[in-house]
Amino acid sequence: MKRPKGRVQRVLQTSQQKEGLELSALLTNPHLQALMQAHDIVAVQELTEESVTQYLGETVKLVRLQKARDTPLGATVRNDLDNVVVSRVVKGGAAERSGLLSEGDEILEINGIPIRGKHVNEVHDLLQEMHGTLTFLLIPTSHNKPAPHRQTVMHVRAYFDYDPSDDPFVPCRELGLSFQKGDILHVISQDDPNWWQAYRDGDEDNQPLAGLIPGKSFQQQRESLKKTIPDRSQEQQGKIWCSKKSKKLRRKNTSTLNRNTDHDDILTYEEMSLYHQPANRKRPIALIGPANSGYDDLRRRLLSIEPEKFAVAVPHTTRNPRIHERNGREYHFVSRSAFETDLAAGKFIESGEYEKNLYGTSMDSVRHVVNSGRICLLCLHTRSLQVLRSSNLKPFVVFIAPPSQERLRTLLATDGKTLKLEELKVVIEKAREMEVNYSHFFDATIVNFDPDQAFQELRRLVDKLDTEPHWGCHIRNCTSFF
Ligand code: 5GP
Repeated sequence: MKRPKGRVQRVLQTSQQKEGLELSALLTNPHLQALMQAHDIVAVQELTEESVTQYLGETVKLVRLQKARDTPLGATVRNDLDNVVVSRVVKGGAAERSGLLSEGDEILEINGIPIRGKHVNEVHDLLQEMHGTLTFLLIPTSHNKPAPHRQTVMHVRAYFDYDPSDDPFVPCRELGLSFQKGDILHVISQDDPNWWQAYRDGDEDNQPLAGLIPGKSFQQQRESLKKTIPDRSQEQQGKIWCSKKSKKLRRKNTSTLNRNTDHDDILTYEEMSLYHQPANRKRPIALIGPANSGYDDLRRRLLSIEPEKFAVAVPHTTRNPRIHERNGREYHFVSRSAFETDLAAGKFIESGEYEKNLYGTSMDSVRHVVNSGRICLLCLHTRSLQVLRSSNLKPFVVFIAPPSQERLRTLLATDGKTLKLEELKVVIEKAREMEVNYSHFFDATIVNFDPDQAFQELRRLVDKLDTEPHWGCHIRNCTSFF
């Protein structure tokens, strides 16, 4: 708007045309000039989101952010003596998108309200009420802003349920991300080892703001502490909304939490990668479930309907072949010592003894089916899952759960099996135990309420492995697998 006064007016001054003279008179009119000047001042204020100025002898920064109603800004604060300091900026929130707030900045004022001396809980409550344009007066951190670097995203499967509303340690409950055991999480920042920033799989498009989840070692440490210290969570509830814990509590907890102990037996997250099975190397399907849940019938049905597509791995045994049996067809017949050598070398996925003979399914047998282009169907005990998953066979694990006790009784009766009430209860209880202890290994669960429907569902799952990539346990170098 200053330009007409300069270049345009110079042109107009020499103009002899009527319109030129008229425009020149208009632009030099004091009222119009004042109007343009006012416009310029307002425009500068509107556009400038950050400006540096002096405040009580300090160099301060004026930052303007837009905050939607009932949406967190995506930053947490902590008290540093009397000061209120930005402790974290969460990816995807208004604070992060603006690029104007940094970890370590001290907040002096928000919309003219003095902040120094306030407890972080008060600041949180204040911010929760505010929306629209927020003006922050900040003392910028003296630490240099780290150069923005591309964080590599880590994909994990959670091995535990997490509810931030029930967690007295989360730095900000609104920023906490709830998840359930088995969920896939995309971890986008591990800058704070205690509180990672993550999205739940599928949420990242409609939920721009990342959430806080406990970091792996933090979770392991507090799980191990839970076993030794009585639960004080009720006591601490509600005291640390969007804030760090009080100094006293923080010091106490960190000293205990940072004890360098090995908690690798406490399962937290498992790194996963997206895997699309090659057309000629199909993932083995492992069916898991308690006896009488119907998993064996499902396997039989798949094998009988499409024998060219599905196959079982030929097991090993130390018993002698029967008259009609051929080595490598029904079984690989091996000596006891050969079996035991392979067993000790970890070549079996599972094994057992029956009437003084050893039986077992080897990795190589499964590999043989996979290399033939067919889908290897396995019915496994849960204890074999860990071994199978740590191989590079990329199994797809389907848990076949029984329906309700009454429905199970009806289904088994249709098959001519009459189980006592106690036996039915054992099936249900066994299934529950399996879910509690192993559900993090399940890629899918089918409740066998109706055997036909369960079969169709299993078929759909198997077909989807051809058309869609799936999350599988992360094994580097998987292109060279087999
Ligand atoms: P058979 O000697 O009559 O063929 O089988 C005897 C038992 O060994 C059956 O109960 C059968 O289920 C079990 N068996 C067969 N193959 C395997 C295997 O690969 N692993 C285990 N653990 N048991 C097997």
